[in-house]
Formats: sequence, C-alpha cells, structure tokens
Amino acid sequence: MSAPTATGLTNLLGLTRPQLEEYIAGLGSKSFRARQLMNWIYKRGEGRITQMTDLAKDFRAQLAQCAQVRVPRICALQVSADGTRKWKLEADASQAFEMVYIPEPGRGTLCISSQVGCALDCSFCSTAQQGFNRNLTTAEIVGQVWLAARELEAAVGGGPEDDSEESAQVITPLSGRIISNVVFMGMGEPLANFRNVIPALSILLDDFGFDLSRRRVTLSTSGLVPQMYKLAEEANVALAVSLHAPNDALRNELVPINRKHPISELLAACWHYLDEQNGRSVTFEYVMLDGVNDSPSQARELVRLLRGHPAKVNLIPFNPYPGTRYRRSPLATIQRFRDELIRGGVLATIRRTRGDDIDAACGQLAGRVIDRTTVRLGNKTIGLAVQS
Ligand code: SF4
Repeated sequence: MSAPTATGLTNLLGLTRPQLEEYIAGLGSKSFRARQLMNWIYKRGEGRITQMTDLAKDFRAQLAQCAQVRVPRICALQVSADGTRKWKLEADASQAFEMVYIPEPGRGTLCISSQVGCALDCSFCSTAQQGFNRNLTTAEIVGQVWLAARELEAAVGGGPEDDSEESAQVITPLSGRIISNVVFMGMGEPLANFRNVIPALSILLDDFGFDLSRRRVTLSTSGLVPQMYKLAEEANVALAVSLHAPNDALRNELVPINRKHPISELLAACWHYLDEQNGRSVTFEYVMLDGVNDSPSQARELVRLLRGHPAKVNLIPFNPYPGTRYRRSPLATIQRFRDELIRGGVLATIRRTRGDDIDAACGQLAGRVIDRTTVRLGNKTIGLAVQS
C-alpha cells in the first residue's frame, strides 16, 4: 500500500484497484466507491476530489482530508518540429526526469521513465552518464500518463485520427483519443524498480484504470534476468529487450549487466516469458553504432541467435549527445544490416528517429540527476538500483 507522502496525503494514483478498495474500506466506506473514484480519476481526468460530484459530500470531505491526486510538476516542455513533445518533470527539489510523447498517424506513444537516472551504465546511453538517484514511485509512474493525457488534451484536443479497431483502445481520461501506447523506455531500468512498476502496470491495464490492451503497453529491459522470470508471473505486457550486440564480448562492453546475465541466459528468459504469457514475439532493440556493432558479419551472428524464435529486431539509429564516443551508423549500413537479418529469416525494421531537434529521441533522455551510486561495477553500481 502506498504510504502517505511528504504532504501527509495518500496519492491515489499510487493505488491499484484492490489497494484502493482496501483504503476506502479503511475509511469506513463501501468498496464500490473505489470504482467510482477510479472512474473520475482515469476516465474523466478529474484530480480534484471535491469535484467528484456523484460521491457523497461527506465522503468527499473525509477523503480530501487524507488523500489527493498528485502528479509530478512540469519544469519544462519542448515541442519538436515533428510534433514530438518532451516534458521535464520534477522528482525532488533538485532532480528531474523526462517523458516523451510521439504522435504518429493512427497512434500516439508515450515513453515514460521508471527511475531518476539509471545505474546500469550502458556505454552509449545518455541517461547512464548522469548516474542514478532513486526509483520513481508507482504514483509518479502512473502520474506521467495521467498528466500527459491532460496536457495533450489541452494542447492538441483529440488524438490521432484513425477509426480502425486497432486504434480504438486508447487512453481517454478526457474526451480525446491521444495516447494509444505506453512504453517503459524513458529514463531507468524498469525491472530494477520492480516493486513500483508492477502496480503501475496493473493500473495501466485495469478496466477501471487506463484500460489499455496488454499489447499496447511495452516494458523494455536491458536484461535483469531474475526479474524477467518474476515479470512473467506477475504482469502481462509486451516485452522489449535492449540487446545491442550479437555476442557476449561486445555486449559486456555496451550493456554491462551482460557480465552478470549473459546473452544465453537472457534469451532463455525471453522465450520463457513468451511461453508463460502466450506472447507473440519479443522485440529486440539494437542501437546502430558506427563501426562497433553494425557489420554484415555481426548481422549474421545475430541471425544465428534469433532465427527460428518469435523475435523482431528494431534497429535504432544512434542519437549522438555531447561527450559520447559513438557515432551513428550511416543509413546505408543500417539498411544493409537490416537486409542481412531479413535474408537470414529474422524480422527487422529501422526505427524512424523522432524529436531529434529537442533531444527527445531514444537514448537521449537526461533530466537532472544527482548521482547517488556508490558501489561500482565497471564505472557504476548495479546493486543500489535494483529493487525487487
Ligand atoms: S540504456 Fe536503459 S538500462 Fe542502459 S543505462 Fe540507459 S536507461 Fe539504463
């Protein structure tokens, strides 16, 4: 159960439906009030308890004494020429994290953060350069989606125009169809914040919450293998894995958690996840780094790892940031890599880069992080950040 925060008030965004029912029962009210409350919060986008007019006045007054709907404060908003939006959100007085909205024809994807910074130290990642400060709470994770929906409604009105059945299930806290997909690909490793991410997933999928289809919520992990097995038991969402290399020697360098959980273990956890979840496929993210992991022979190595499995490879053109030693692979190299994968029988696509002009593209989220990591693995800790 979400504890009261610094304000002394319980943030209702941090409670799953059963937790909210328990909370309401603790106030001496009937549990069906929880569903009414969720209807106001998630379907109607109302955050002011006193305005939830079909709740008894006495109950509203009682609830307003001890609870609230509180979202992270917006420190800054940048809007890209291509319509991508990036918000910097306050975590604590001196720290910030980011979320990004990417509009596309027929869909709108919100990329949310799960931690302030990240301790996993992937060598190509901008977030990693800042270190790690803390896990976001469930309310801060859910609050990003709630806040973005309201902000987008105010800014752009209705959502993507597409009446197909595929796009029918979207987040509608207000009247518009704005956010159709939520991806945990912002700052942080979501499985290192397992305790807070699992309830957030439950609220995203709950019929009385955001009511998203499990195929439209994607959790991306760099490969915390034990937590992947736990995830298979506790949640049912699409899985993406940051692979980035076709062998352990290179992946140890690019994604240091690989030294603890090598590729063979990682892939076994992926296939187990699909079996348990009846999932269709795992998406493997592969950032294209010039002269590092982008050769045809490396593509063939990747084919040998994935051929015959339900896998999709998403090739991500690297987005350089100040101070990085990596460069983006030329487009022709990326296309050749993709063609090699497809020739080998592995489904592969190239991700279109979005929000380049506001540093909102994949791997560029920075926020403002005071590094609290102390125990080093390579350059950074993994111990402090992992919570299960
Ligand atoms: S790529 Fe993901 S897991 Fe790796 S350091 Fe960046 S945010 Fe963390």
